[in-house]
Amino acid sequence: MSKERLYIFDTTLRDGEQTQGVDFSLDDKEKIALALDNLGVDYIEGGWPGANPTDTEFFQKRIKFKNSKLTAFGMTKKSGRSADNDPGLSALLNSKAPSICLVGKSWDFHVDIALGISNDENLENISESAKHFIKEKKEFMFDAEHFFDGYKNNPKYALSCLKAAYDQGTRWIVLCDTNGGTLPNEVTEIVNEVIKHVPGENLGIHAHNDTGNAVANSLAAVQAGVRQIQGTINGLGERCGNANLMSVIPTIHLKKYFSDKFEINIKAENISKLTQCSRLLDEILNRKPNQHLPYVGAAAFSHKGGLHVSAVQKDPKTYEHIIPELVGNVRNIVVSDQSGKSNIISRLKSIGVDFKEDDPKIKKLLDEVKDREFIGYSYDGADASFELLARRIIGEIPRFISITEYDVSVKKNSLGKIVSSAKAELVVDGQKIICEGEGNGPVNALDNAIRQNVDRLAKYSKYLKDLKLVDYKVRILNTGTEAITRVSIESTDSKGKNWFTIGVSTNIIDASFKALVDSLDYKLFKDNAPASI
Ligand SMILES: [Zn+2]
Repeated sequence: MSKERLYIFDTTLRDGEQTQGVDFSLDDKEKIALALDNLGVDYIEGGWPGANPTDTEFFQKRIKFKNSKLTAFGMTKKSGRSADNDPGLSALLNSKAPSICLVGKSWDFHVDIALGISNDENLENISESAKHFIKEKKEFMFDAEHFFDGYKNNPKYALSCLKAAYDQGTRWIVLCDTNGGTLPNEVTEIVNEVIKHVPGENLGIHAHNDTGNAVANSLAAVQAGVRQIQGTINGLGERCGNANLMSVIPTIHLKKYFSDKFEINIKAENISKLTQCSRLLDEILNRKPNQHLPYVGAAAFSHKGGLHVSAVQKDPKTYEHIIPELVGNVRNIVVSDQSGKSNIISRLKSIGVDFKEDDPKIKKLLDEVKDREFIGYSYDGADASFELLARRIIGEIPRFISITEYDVSVKKNSLGKIVSSAKAELVVDGQKIICEGEGNGPVNALDNAIRQNVDRLAKYSKYLKDLKLVDYKVRILNTGTEAITRVSIESTDSKGKNWFTIGVSTNIIDASFKALVDSLDYKLFKDNAPASI
């Protein structure tokens, strides 16, 4: 049986950019677009040419795509002028994008309140705009804004808006749940009515996530006949986001209900790039990835607790709905207080430590982890610190830089400015190196003292040059008698793999220092730096 084709439309660069705090540079846009093209999405909405310089320039770059069609976004023509004389529409034509998507009203309430024009005038604006681009041989799409709300209020008028575009030869009519309040059963009911007027092969769905149902609504629309899905990487979008393509795409590809009936342009080997694509966006946004994202989050295939872990080791199917590698993700065995020996063994295997299962050092490591967890360590999110500890106990790990002394002070000067300075004494190959630095706080000063003097760290300079601190988190834990500080540090380097370290102490500077030293040690270890002699 031949499968029906489903089309994926990405709007990360347009609707995703509506998100508070998101402002893509030209370079960012190009990186994201190329990643989407590599995946094989059908359409990339590049932005709104003419509306801002970055978007205009992005289209002027004329990037060559292998798989995707670049789509320019705009608004239906203004009332009172012809489509030929509408500067907004001209900017879209000038963008030379092969495909054009215009948003227009389909809710009579909006036509009246937001536009202040008659219902008929709005219909004319839609049909004239469609005609204008179709005459110019563009692949034309109409985004019916607030379609579901419009349909609930006045079905006849909402449908006539779709028809105004469709009757001119519009390729795609996109049903938008702009306010994101529609539920899956309503999507099913309404799409069932719409396909009596516009064939499903010409319909798209654009769902927002305000009830947490954007992905469910997109899938419901497909089940009811729609053949184009719009969404964004990681569900990026204003308010609660858009439909998350990182969930939609693997669901269509991997879940039998959909994969039996449909095919998409994204091949199996590219499905395994989804995790990478998701992390790329976070890296560009300089955000910490959401660990709990379905399919692609770091915790999506994490197992904690002895029983789960031993079952997963017998057969991962016991607690996993798919094989993580299919989407480019990995299984992660979390070590915790309740964990048994099987957890530790599994985690050691996953980091590639050599050991014998009956080695008494395994028990020693387990006890050490438990002792440390008792005083406030948590190795769940600190892979690098766990690996260092395990290797120190079970295998061997070279001693790199010794930090023999440090001194941190905080001063308030006569201008009222608070300055922290730090001095650390390091030893490499028997040579004493004094590093000094200043910072906006004691931890920052200590970090700067080491990092800004990286050139002086003799044979370790070249290994530590590209080390970067990405995130720094402090938690105060109350153990009853005293407050304990737990510091977590996320680091990265030019290879792009992030690692997490942890430090615990009654003193925040000492806790930070421990996490920082683990970060340096881990970097030196994974880059095979020689031992200090
Ligand atoms: Zn939207």
